[in-house]
Amino acid sequence: MMRAIDATRLYFDRAADHMDLSANIRELLLTAKREVSVQIAVELDDGQISTHIGYRVQHDDARGPMKGGLRFHPEVDLGEVRSLAQLMTWKTALVDLPFGGAKGGVAVDPSKLSPREMERITRKFVDGIHDVIGPDVDIPAPDMGTNSEVMAWIQNQYQKYHGFNPGCVTGKPVELFGIPGREEATGRGVGILAFKMMGRLGRKPQQTRVALQGFGNVGSHAAKFLHEAEFKIVAVSDVSGGYYRPEGLDIPAVLQYSREHRGLKGFKQAERISNEKLLELDVELLIPAALGGVITAHNAPRIKAPMIIEAANQPVWPDADVLFHEQGKLVLPDILANAGGVVVSYFEWVQNRQHYSWGINRVRQELDRVLADSFERVWSMAQERNVSLRTASYMLGIGRVGRATMLGGAT
Ligand code: NAD
Repeated sequence: MMRAIDATRLYFDRAADHMDLSANIRELLLTAKREVSVQIAVELDDGQISTHIGYRVQHDDARGPMKGGLRFHPEVDLGEVRSLAQLMTWKTALVDLPFGGAKGGVAVDPSKLSPREMERITRKFVDGIHDVIGPDVDIPAPDMGTNSEVMAWIQNQYQKYHGFNPGCVTGKPVELFGIPGREEATGRGVGILAFKMMGRLGRKPQQTRVALQGFGNVGSHAAKFLHEAEFKIVAVSDVSGGYYRPEGLDIPAVLQYSREHRGLKGFKQAERISNEKLLELDVELLIPAALGGVITAHNAPRIKAPMIIEAANQPVWPDADVLFHEQGKLVLPDILANAGGVVVSYFEWVQNRQHYSWGINRVRQELDRVLADSFERVWSMAQERNVSLRTASYMLGIGRVGRATMLGGAT
């Protein structure tokens, strides 16, 4: 079975082949700068001791301090974190932020933890890594299983060692040095890019049926934005399964239900389907916004949607990607599709360093501009070089990192 790190390597090599990168430079660009793994032993509410492993992989800092989310999920392992850290390097470069790439993770199931247990795990993790992170070194942010509350604990724990410095982490609550619009940013970005892509293809949102997998931070905000832009969302899902209504779902009602019930479980105004079936629906646009590796050679032949936007990281495996390219399906890759989050994280970091608060309108306006520019560049590159949107995105990201590495002196 293919691992996440092999998938990233394959995508990297495909782009590097078009760029004539030598084997030595490839090795240099792929090798992580630092990898840390720490023990996280905490006392649970019932007095038992529970031990976990926390990872932080700092992939590349040629273009600036390293940036990347922190994932709490039972399947987290070093390979996955490595691969996600690398994706962050190409992503920050692709959207031209002055950052490098990193990622962190703890192998733990947040749904089985009380808030106090989550807090203890987070603080213990910071105890283990505080020396190697910081506003000029490596800046964590939310990812699957973590949220603004977790970021607030990280800030607080980091400051116990290093003094006041809210720029040490992003995705914080707005009341605690966060920036308005961060929480919606990734989902909004998915929506903006969907809109841009439809524009390029001359297709109207009203005629575009959407199936969306995952209804957490990214999925729910993407649903809200797409609904407001008049896309027709016919299916959504979360860990409890899929909810399908061919005539289009009442998205405000789904959002309210999910807020009130902390998920979609029990939502009645739709037909129940499985998460696997959701991917295979007869729709124009498919948006996986939950886990990686959900579309592989195994189910790719059954996927009907001609357009896929990778809101999640690595939802489409390379074997499926090849088939889609041959079939003429359009795949907007993760490193562009979900870059909205890191763009607004960058604004938050700038705000923290300037001690000047940004308003929501400015955040939205600048986010829209950065993503629209990046989309145009990727689209043009794909056409000029006759490559997929993914290969074009990687070429742009890798090219920038490669040049910064050489200009700075690689050794
Ligand atoms: P989240 O924890 O807020 O939500 C995850 C969602 O996926 C939940 O609705 C959950 O029920 C659902 N889910 C879990 N297991 C599932 C399964 N087996 N089948 C279907 N659904 C399942 O996470 P998030 O922050 O929304 O992140 C989702 C994806 O987007 C991840 O791949 C993450 O790396 C990526 N991403 C997130 C951000 C961000 O700003 N949060 C930024 C970039 C990329």
